[in-house]
Amino acid sequence: MRPEILNPLFAEVDSLKGVGPQLTKLLKKLGISRVVDLLYHLPTGAIERIKAPAAEASLLGRTVILDVTPFETRESRSGRGPTRIFATDSGGNAISLVYFNNPGWAKRTLPIGQQRIVSGKLEQYGDEWQIIHPEVSEPGKGPPPLIREPVYPLTEGLTNRRLGELVREALERAPELPEWIEPSLAARECWSSWRASLALIHRELGAEDARRRLAYDEIFANQLALLLLRQSQRRHRTVSLPGTGELIRKLHLPYQLTDAQRRVIREIRGDMAQHVPMLRLLQGDVGSGKTLVALASMLTAVESGAQAALLAPTEILARQHHSTLLGQLDSLGVRVAILTGREKGRARDSVLMGLADGSIDILVGTHAIFQEKVAYKQLGLAVIDEQHRFGVSQRLLLASKAEHPPHLLVMTATPIPRTLTLTQYGEMDVSRIDEMPPGRTPVETRVISEEKLPDVINGLGRHISGGGQAYWVCPLVEESEKSDAAAAEERARVLKMRFGDDKIGLVHGRMKGADKDAVMERFASGDLAVLVATTVIEVGVDVPNATLMIVEGAERFGLAQLHQLRGRVGRGSGKSTCLLIRGQNLTDVGRARLSLMRETSDGFRIAEEDLRLRGPGEILGTRQSGDEVFRAAKPEDVETLAPIAQSDAQLLLDRDGGLKGERGQAARVCLYLFERDQAVGLIRSG
Ligand code: ADP
Ligand code: MG
Repeated sequence: MRPEILNPLFAEVDSLKGVGPQLTKLLKKLGISRVVDLLYHLPTGAIERIKAPAAEASLLGRTVILDVTPFETRESRSGRGPTRIFATDSGGNAISLVYFNNPGWAKRTLPIGQQRIVSGKLEQYGDEWQIIHPEVSEPGKGPPPLIREPVYPLTEGLTNRRLGELVREALERAPELPEWIEPSLAARECWSSWRASLALIHRELGAEDARRRLAYDEIFANQLALLLLRQSQRRHRTVSLPGTGELIRKLHLPYQLTDAQRRVIREIRGDMAQHVPMLRLLQGDVGSGKTLVALASMLTAVESGAQAALLAPTEILARQHHSTLLGQLDSLGVRVAILTGREKGRARDSVLMGLADGSIDILVGTHAIFQEKVAYKQLGLAVIDEQHRFGVSQRLLLASKAEHPPHLLVMTATPIPRTLTLTQYGEMDVSRIDEMPPGRTPVETRVISEEKLPDVINGLGRHISGGGQAYWVCPLVEESEKSDAAAAEERARVLKMRFGDDKIGLVHGRMKGADKDAVMERFASGDLAVLVATTVIEVGVDVPNATLMIVEGAERFGLAQLHQLRGRVGRGSGKSTCLLIRGQNLTDVGRARLSLMRETSDGFRIAEEDLRLRGPGEILGTRQSGDEVFRAAKPEDVETLAPIAQSDAQLLLDRDGGLKGERGQAARVCLYLFERDQAVGLIRSG
């Protein structure tokens, strides 16, 4: 149960003065639904106003506050031009106050002969002083204009002033929370309390200490949650799975393992031989051969008499893994099954039965395989592929259910910079595949302007008439699957007209699973020459004969995403090409990002750069995907503060594992504040 002290923070925004359904809706658009969201809606800048007795040349272009008295109102004759209200300031200058809309309001608010306070940017028009759309207040009534006004991200229909008022009211309601930061750390960093820091950051831009303190809070909650997760997993004992090596020896591979593959398999088998459940993250760039490592680990489990499950992020990838495994394992007598949201009725029942009685050794599937109804005879190992869609929250949720956790191997193709690894996977041990299989030729990457689209299509024609296959990826249009699908459909239509219906396939997120599979299969078997797709093919798909990747609207993708997409080609020994088609209005950052793609194929470097250029949200996806996204913390903070937060959280748990002491209780408040409710469930009792 959430501590009562937090109740005012988690109250809905409509509990604030004057917030009705309409305002609630606008706030929701900004992601603000509770008082606490308002507090963490941080300003991005500030307006500085100068209180001046009179207009003067040195103030031109600045935002001024002036006392004025209107003496004449002039409306445009046509009714289409602006309304001008002429006023004198305290120095006797005439100044024109200009409104382009709402003449009635302007006249009421600035009545002739009455003193008013106006504020806005001072300009010169001919030889007249003027302010366009000044804000107005009446002396002695309501708050005077702020000398410093924080500027907030806004949405249409909501003014900065109104939002500022709401934030101030939220601040008044915010209670002082018990301090969870180690006193010596707070002293060393000159940090104020949580509440004071929030007040400061909303009052003064550049309140850097305050922002860092708030950043630390988030990172601390994150590190504490991950340590609790690790601790709870480690408390359990599990079955040791030493393996015999027998099945792995029988596996027929057309190639030699790389040294890196050998090394990480050794690390994993070492873990699985223990009675403490493995918690290991396997990082390896796209194409580094993680699937084989997963296979070796699963066979180790099967050799030891246990079952293994492989969780894929998409239906397409699950089917692909399933068919690869079937091909490799059938002759070894290892029984493999698949379970996704699509297996229904009898098929589903028979899989469920096989899992329960142990006649299925390896299960491949989507998140359906972790549902409650799925009972295994003895699940020894769970492998999660392409982890970046399976975030901290999901892992916490999973842990809070598990009594006897299986060994866990999490594989990610997203090259996560070291600094982010700590906040995303801080509870895990890390293995890296830092070497590519031999014989890969790097993918040639070219950035092409969209004006050259006809040339690109001609080039595609030559490519496929020579027997080649290609991907054509259409961009996110408006973050809605509907419009993405429409763009992809349109592209497919154009290509079909040119190259023939039977050569072009289309997959997008709104298609039915079975239809997607059918298209994927036709592409994999070489029946289709071109696969037009939205980013549903981003992760994992492996069709070695496809050596051309075309990405439309490339500037709209995150670099890590482009890297994933490019990783779909260059899988065989043939030469591969990736064409990044860019729109015409490219920003400097956009240009820099795309040229980085051309320069390097090193996924880690790309991810580090992307992090620097665009922030962690881009690399790790959005909040909905379950990954950690911070509101106050910037990448630099993560880098410097995460190690401190980790050791601080560890120290706290060492001293007070049940989080019962004063700081322990405060730390619980911090976990709840950042919605780590499940983590609280993992605190050791007794
Ligand atoms: P990822 O790490 O992106 O999941 P995959 O496991 O899909 O990569 O492997 C990419 C391709 O490399 C596959 O076609 C796979 O068969 C091949 N491969 C894996 N290991 C080796 C190796 N040691 N030597 C040569 N090819 C390999
Ligand atoms: Mg993979």
